[in-house]
Amino acid sequence: QAAMEESTSRTTKKKLVAVVGGGLVGSLNACFFAKRGFDVEVFEIREDIRKAKVVRGRSINLALSHRGRQALKHVGIEEKIVSQGIPMQARMIHSLNGKQYPIPYGRKGQYILSVDRANLNKQLLTEADSYPNTKLNFDHKLQDWSTETGLMTFVRPDGSKVQIKADLIVGCDGAFSATRKQFLRRSRFNYSQTYIPHGYMELTMPPVNGEFAMKPNYLHIWPRNTFMMIALPNLDRTFTCTLFMPFEDFEKITTGDEVIKFFQKYFPDTIPLIGVDALKRDYFRLPAQAMVSVKCSPYHIDDKCVLMGDAAHAVVPFYGQGMNAGFEDCIVFDEMMEQFNEDFSAVLPEYSRVRVPDDHAIADLAMYNYIEMRAHVNSKWFLFRKHVDNLLHFLMPKTIIPLYTMVTFTRTRYHEAVQRWHWQNKVINRGLLMSVSGAVLGGSYLLIKSPPNITNLLIPGEKIWSRLTELRTS
Ligand SMILES: Cc1cc2nc3c(=O)[nH]c(=O)nc-3n(C[C@H](O)[C@H](O)[C@H](O)COP(=O)(O)OP(=O)(O)OC[C@H]3O[C@@H](n4cnc5c(N)ncnc54)[C@H](O)[C@@H]3O)c2cc1C
Repeated sequence: QAAMEESTSRTTKKKLVAVVGGGLVGSLNACFFAKRGFDVEVFEIREDIRKAKVVRGRSINLALSHRGRQALKHVGIEEKIVSQGIPMQARMIHSLNGKQYPIPYGRKGQYILSVDRANLNKQLLTEADSYPNTKLNFDHKLQDWSTETGLMTFVRPDGSKVQIKADLIVGCDGAFSATRKQFLRRSRFNYSQTYIPHGYMELTMPPVNGEFAMKPNYLHIWPRNTFMMIALPNLDRTFTCTLFMPFEDFEKITTGDEVIKFFQKYFPDTIPLIGVDALKRDYFRLPAQAMVSVKCSPYHIDDKCVLMGDAAHAVVPFYGQGMNAGFEDCIVFDEMMEQFNEDFSAVLPEYSRVRVPDDHAIADLAMYNYIEMRAHVNSKWFLFRKHVDNLLHFLMPKTIIPLYTMVTFTRTRYHEAVQRWHWQNKVINRGLLMSVSGAVLGGSYLLIKSPPNITNLLIPGEKIWSRLTELRTS
């Protein structure tokens, strides 16, 4: 009640925006709204992670790319975050026989960044905190809110309740969003969630003699068809290895010796780098975590509430786009605020109309990329096509743009990137088919028209020998 009085007694001319969730997207979004001059209150269920001893949460590090960087730039902290990231210019594929080969992400100079999740979140909270018109409320769990009045009810750790009324509620409370619960009660709200059969487990690869145990400027991948492991570098020169595997396979491994046997079979090069004891111990430290893909539409209720980030679209992590897409949500919304003069009744429906197809497209692409990462990269055809795409992109940079480039290094709308990719595939595959057919037909025609004299084609053995001896003596 006290908080309600506090927020309604404000005398500013601007409206109050309540951001539910002080995670990556919520804390960034608070900066966007604060920059526009709104009164902003962030409500986060956790304690202030800047003061907490242990930060619970998902992956330790994540890949930041163009869309995310553009959003950070908008609020003036791109350089700060980039300077604390580690560039990864290519995937480094680890074959079963121990061989490694890189597959670049894009052109020379194009890279994605490995950033520390907790640090990024802390910096974003500090940035949000630096606006005088923003207030961060930790230990506030959204329990419910009213679609009629916009009144929100929060529960504090001691069980007490706080009620606050805001002009706009921005649900950034993640994949299991409490804000979204009200949407589920409404007619014509579409919702689906899919758990993939795979889980993930994180293992740490420590430095060797104070240096990275593997080449640092790569995202290392051990693709093993039905499962895979990846590793991203951290500033403390460790790597975080993430094993993605069907839950039933995780569960088959029940002893330390079985862990080592499994790693000997599939990731032998990592055993000395992670360490036998660490592997035996860390594999059982935490159970494998689930991954969910959530799609819904629309993202808004009237002019009162809008969902962004994972609350609107949790995607599986295989395109490295979940956070990037969530950060881009903030830019798209902000662009519409500009376009519609901050009129929520116009901005919110337009935001849903424009953003839903894009977020659904990246959700589908992320699912697709899981198969690409763990299986396709092992195929010669896939590698050949990557080379062809890159070559064509080099020759015709505006006409042929690899899908990964569009998604990761541009702000091409996700659904347009997908459409363009389908079109390019059709054109390139047809071109390749025509070149092969042309070569076969042309060759056959020449052979039929003027069949070669076989004896002329064969160079006599003594002639080869004399040419070789000439070469040796020259
Ligand atoms: C293994 C893994 C790897 C990933 N790698 C990448 C990557 O490389 N690149 C990338 O772009 N993305 C990646 N992602 C996706 C990325 O983590 C998410 O997209 C991103 O965290 C979404 O941010 P968010 O703020 O929307 O949600 P969250 O990060 O989930 O934050 C939600 C916040 O809301 C708070 N909250 C929840 N419920 C309530 C409530 N009732 N009341 C108040 N507060 C509440 C939570 O405590 C949390 O702080 C990865 C995800 C996983 C699982």
